[in-house]
Amino acid sequence: MTSLDAIRKRARELLDEIPPEVTLVAAAKGRTVEEVRAAIEAGVRIIGHNYVQEAVPMVAALGDLAEWHMIGHLQRNKVRRAVEIFDRIETLDSVRLAQEIDKRCSAIGKSMPVLVEVNSGREPNKTGVLPEDLEQFIRQLATFENLRVEGLMTMGPRFGDPEQARPYFRATREAFERLAAASLPNVAMRTLSMGMSNSYRIAIEEGATMVRLGTRLFGERPA
Ligand SMILES: *Cc1c(COP(=O)(O)O)cnc(C)c1O
Repeated sequence: MTSLDAIRKRARELLDEIPPEVTLVAAAKGRTVEEVRAAIEAGVRIIGHNYVQEAVPMVAALGDLAEWHMIGHLQRNKVRRAVEIFDRIETLDSVRLAQEIDKRCSAIGKSMPVLVEVNSGREPNKTGVLPEDLEQFIRQLATFENLRVEGLMTMGPRFGDPEQARPYFRATREAFERLAAASLPNVAMRTLSMGMSNSYRIAIEEGATMVRLGTRLFGERPA
């Protein structure tokens, strides 16, 4: 079996395994256009990128075949390009970034769905909004006309044993439900993006509606 056949096979297996209400995002950092194309051929509909410059040629080659999500930390000087190529930004975590996304979307007449990234493990050097700051942060986003808050995303701390990630996924889902119940202006809490290759099963048990898989789909990343 070629490596592309292996990707198609793993993609089909994952799509069979994951419950129909959960969406699979293929995390494509470091992969080739052909590898990503193989995943799309097998039925993957959303491709996630960590870097704008890596996404540009991919979107040029495969554009209409998939939906494109920004899943990495977005720098403000990359926003102009990002809002042109991405269908959704999963990593909004500051008002300054929201301001820039809003401005750049306004210039091209686009409305951008965003997820707010949560630093669920309260890790000092990690991106994301602290759980206790979420509501105030999201209220501040209501004034930006060109972005729509559609949910939360979290990485969570990395553990060898993914069972240890469970409390962080659970706390993020609880925050998600609290925010949904608060009916904040300009906010529709419908997507909860959490879980990666070693933790997606636990994330789904804890209420993820979107999982982001790289290694499990494409194989080990080239060194
Ligand atoms: C790389 C990455 C993933 C997928 O990681 P794997 O462990 O390879 O599945 C998911 N989310 C983000 C933000 C990533 O950078």
